[in-house]
Amino acid sequence: MKVLAATILAWCFVTSAWSQAADTILINGKVLTVDDRDSVREALAIHDGKILAVGTTADIRKTAGAKTRVIDLQGRTVVPGLIDSHQHAIRAGLTFSTEVNWVGVSSLTEALDRIRQRAASAKPGTWIIVGGGWTANQFKERRRPTQAELEMASPNNPVYVQMNYAWVAMTRSGFRLLNIASDADLPSGAKLERDSSGNLTGAITGNQPGIVALFDKLPRPTFEEQVDGTKKFFRELNRLGLTGIGDPGGNNLPPSEYQALFKVWREHQLTVRISYSLNGQTAGAEIEEFQSLTRLLPEGFGDDMLRFNGLGERVTWAMNNNDNPSDADKANYYQIAKWAAERGMSLTMHWNNNSSVDHLLTLFERLNKETPIVQLRWSIAHLNDASPQSLQRMKALGLGWTVQDMLYFADDASRTMPPVMTAKKIDVPVGAGTDAHRIASYNPFTSLQWLLDAKTAGGVALRRVDEAPTRQDALRLYTKGSAWFSHDEDRRGSLEVGKLADLAVLSKDYLTVPIDQIGSIESTLTMVGGKVVYAAGPYRQFE
Ligand SMILES: [Zn+2]
Repeated sequence: MKVLAATILAWCFVTSAWSQAADTILINGKVLTVDDRDSVREALAIHDGKILAVGTTADIRKTAGAKTRVIDLQGRTVVPGLIDSHQHAIRAGLTFSTEVNWVGVSSLTEALDRIRQRAASAKPGTWIIVGGGWTANQFKERRRPTQAELEMASPNNPVYVQMNYAWVAMTRSGFRLLNIASDADLPSGAKLERDSSGNLTGAITGNQPGIVALFDKLPRPTFEEQVDGTKKFFRELNRLGLTGIGDPGGNNLPPSEYQALFKVWREHQLTVRISYSLNGQTAGAEIEEFQSLTRLLPEGFGDDMLRFNGLGERVTWAMNNNDNPSDADKANYYQIAKWAAERGMSLTMHWNNNSSVDHLLTLFERLNKETPIVQLRWSIAHLNDASPQSLQRMKALGLGWTVQDMLYFADDASRTMPPVMTAKKIDVPVGAGTDAHRIASYNPFTSLQWLLDAKTAGGVALRRVDEAPTRQDALRLYTKGSAWFSHDEDRRGSLEVGKLADLAVLSKDYLTVPIDQIGSIESTLTMVGGKVVYAAGPYRQFE
């Protein structure tokens, strides 16, 4: 009797949940739900932007009405929309329609061709800019372009090519336009590169602030170009199955540069959910900056497409990439962190080296005794060589860890994989990502492949493959794992009933293709909140 009652109850629940027919059903596929058991289902139904049901094709067909859109997956694999927990996407969008893109290009010849093509259609005199996202290791030639090659590819337009925050090559016309004739004309931290005989090479080397300041000398895209670039960049992310981004601000991105994003959001044209944090931009005056910028901007403010998520990744300049911060640096940082904690703000902090992370962890531990941060989902970004001890301390503080694939672009095997499996054992929340687009590609499948095989762009395997996750684990890091950082894992990051219908239908089966093909997977159909934002090939009609 009890069983019968339960059955009737369940049946009532199901019929009432389905009293309105699905808007869309996807059937005959392989749906990787990323639920707690990594269930794989055949089909899925969507109603009002959310997932109505997952199950067999026969079950899901029952949710359809006369007007339901039916998408036949024909065996294709569906994953939750991917979420990059640390990508400088807002900045990348601003220049996406005006910069030349070398992401994923496998030869220098093709890279130079892209400059040649842009130069052929550009107005004489306008800049041709490659803003990063590439490394010499990805080219089969294994080298950077020379000034002569850039001039040959672009005879009438100045060219600026940046690699990471370390190296820039320009044409002679570029040097003239920026009035750079000697080291004295360069921002501090940058200098002209010379070869072994002391001759100028046509390139500039520098530290991060030097290269950032150099980039700022270039003309900015117009507002229209920024809006256009933002839309096109998010569509490019959708093409790669991305539906969410944690954006940690960044260099060359003062608050004034968010207007293009806000316009696209206001006009309901955002196709990627963005949670963004505020990066300290004014050295020494960060607290005033944060206080003024957040007076009317509480933690979590926004909607499902665009949401404010606290401070970071550079909270203060003084603690940024500083392995030996002074007591004064730490006192200033402490003041800001305390202020953020008191307001329930999230905070993500860029930190590279485990050897010095004690400075940061000790500070957080002290703060946690005064103003608890355990529930606030603070995090550390990068920290590729995190030790088990550091991860234990992070766990005790409730800190998460965002992991990126910048080592994919490294050129030697002496570096280690970030220990994501150790983090899993210790139960530190981990989000995956790229840190694109200046120092890495934004392609999530490049990052997923690297997480699995630990091989760099040059094909060198890094040590510690024992830290390689399973395919399901890696997918979890890129979905639910990343969703944690914006307090969203109950709303997105897996394909379960009631969650936002963010998903991607893949061009290849992520679970079974050889690992070295994972990097070439694309989406053939991407949905955000049940709305098709990208469709290709057999699904083109649905966009
Ligand atoms: Zn960073």
